[in-house]
Amino acid sequence: MDRNQLMKWIKTPTKMAHKYSLNAVYFCTGCGIIEVPPTITTRWDAERFGVVATATPRHANLFLITGYVSVKTLRAIIRTYEQMPEPKYTVGFGSCTINGGMYWDSYNTINQLDKYIPVDGYIAGCMPRPEAIFIAVTHLWTLIDKDMADGYKRYRKNYGAYRANQEMVLGELEWPPLFPTEIHTNTGEGETDATAATPTMTEREKDDELA
Ligand code: SF4
Repeated sequence: MDRNQLMKWIKTPTKMAHKYSLNAVYFCTGCGIIEVPPTITTRWDAERFGVVATATPRHANLFLITGYVSVKTLRAIIRTYEQMPEPKYTVGFGSCTINGGMYWDSYNTINQLDKYIPVDGYIAGCMPRPEAIFIAVTHLWTLIDKDMADGYKRYRKNYGAYRANQEMVLGELEWPPLFPTEIHTNTGEGETDATAATPTMTEREKDDELA
C-alpha cells in the first residue's frame, strides 16, 4: 500500500471500507443479467475488486439494475432500493436503463430509470461485457472518493419529486413515504422535475408528533 492510500485509510476509514467492500444486490430485470454470473464467479472473479453478491437489500450497498425495467418490476426495485442502508450506490446496465433502448416505445417498460430512483452511473452497451462492469466499478471508486456518488442524498432531498414520478406510473403507492414529501414543480412534459423541491412533513412524522 502506498503512502497516499495509507493516508486515505487513516483519514476516511468508513468511506474506504464502503469503497472496497461493495455488496451487490441485483435484479434480473432484463437480458443484461446474463453477464453477471461470469462476472461474480471464477472466470472474472469480481471479489478481486471487493464486489460480492449479497442475498438481501438490507446487507447491500450496491444495486445493479441489469437491463430494461418493466412497470411491474419497478415497484419491486423501489422497495428494494428503499430497504438498502445508506450510503448506497446504483448502477444501470445497458441502454435500456438510460433511455429505454430497444424497448423505448414499449407500453409496459419505463424509459429512464433515474426518474424513479437515483442512478450513480450507467454502463453503456447492449449488453455490457464483464470488462465494462469492472471499469464501472473503478469509476464508482473515483466517485466515492470525491463524494460524488451521492444518489442516496439526492433521493432523500428530492423524495417528493421521485415519489410523484413513481406514482405517475404505478398509481398511489401502498407504503408510507420514506422521507419528507415535498412540493414539486411539473415540467409540463408529463413528468415531475426532480430538482425543484421544498420539504414538508411526512405522514409518518405527523403520526410521531401526534403520539
Ligand atoms: S440494453 Fe440490450 S442487453 Fe440490456 S436489457 Fe436492453 S436489450 Fe437487453
